[in-house]
Amino acid sequence: MHKVTLIPGDGIGPEITEAARQVIEATGVNIQWEIVEAGAEMIPRYGKPLPDHVLDSIRRNKVALKGPVTTPVGQGFRSVNVTLRQELDLYANLRPARTIPNIPSRYQGVDLLVVRENTEDLYAGVEHRVGKDAAESIKIITREASERIARFAFETARRQGRKKVTAVHKANIMKLTDGLFLESVRSVAEHYPQIAYEEVIVDAMCMKLVQEPENYDVLVLPNLYGDIVSDLCAGLVGGLGVAPGANIGLECAVFEAVHGSAPQIAGQNLANPLAIILSGVMMLRHLGENKYAAMIEDAVNGVLEEGKELTADLGGTATTRSMTEEIIKRI
Ligand code: NAD
Repeated sequence: MHKVTLIPGDGIGPEITEAARQVIEATGVNIQWEIVEAGAEMIPRYGKPLPDHVLDSIRRNKVALKGPVTTPVGQGFRSVNVTLRQELDLYANLRPARTIPNIPSRYQGVDLLVVRENTEDLYAGVEHRVGKDAAESIKIITREASERIARFAFETARRQGRKKVTAVHKANIMKLTDGLFLESVRSVAEHYPQIAYEEVIVDAMCMKLVQEPENYDVLVLPNLYGDIVSDLCAGLVGGLGVAPGANIGLECAVFEAVHGSAPQIAGQNLANPLAIILSGVMMLRHLGENKYAAMIEDAVNGVLEEGKELTADLGGTATTRSMTEEIIKRI
């Protein structure tokens, strides 16, 4: 029996995590959920949006499935998502983007794995105002974090039989920070002669991904570029509604969709539940439950192939519930 922390989140989070829970339970896998809440609504009660008992629950269970949590723009509390990744040292953010059969897209044959450093860079939160009319944000890059994300990328590439790792950077301009990132990835690449290695500047990378995404395999990036480029990659294979993700550390792993809380469609039974369901599939594989993971994948593929119960982002008229029920029927 596995014990898993479930964080519903806010916005569309509660609807889609409930869908994922039901789909996972329909397989018969033996999971006991520990449901804990995070987000702005926790502040009056706990004084912060990420209460200690949430972190304790994940530390105890080692695995969590998490819905998106809204972060106020330009003011207010620090992102729950960034804090969670830093507190639990979930140093690797893994975001696969693979062509999904029967999902409309301009591209075919895309099979990318975005490996994003998840703990430092401009997301370290070292920011301050300088007087009234200026502000500074400090970009932190360390050899230790860069080497470990590079090892993670190459090890994952080796395990999955992938052929190439591309380091993405802007070291022509940020010679010291991105320069150190590149130097670190290069030093790790030397230990994997069987995997091709190349370096591409982030702006050119965006163009190349849009022009010929099939030429790329594993991308390894510092935090900010990884955040942006992974949304771009989601767009190559059907959008945010189908893009799963995982935050992996030495001790714990938190699985969540790439997308956010989509407040415009929250509570309306309109959100596509596939991204969180496919994050659940990644979670089941992490737990060694490959059989149940494959059951869900087959059911999802069946629904997509039939093309009747698709949510609006995929060009259909299905609701979160009706799509979820259709998946469950096929398990
Ligand atoms: P978003 O991902 O929530 O939405 C972007 C666009 O995609 C919107 O048009 C939205 O309607 C659509 N979309 C997203 N998920 C969808 C789904 N499952 N089904 C159908 N359509 C979907 O990004 P945003 O609007 O920039 O962010 C909203 C909030 O979410 C912000 O507060 C942001 O900080 C937060 N956020 C949280 C996480 C997280 O919890 N890990 C990640 C990204 C953003």
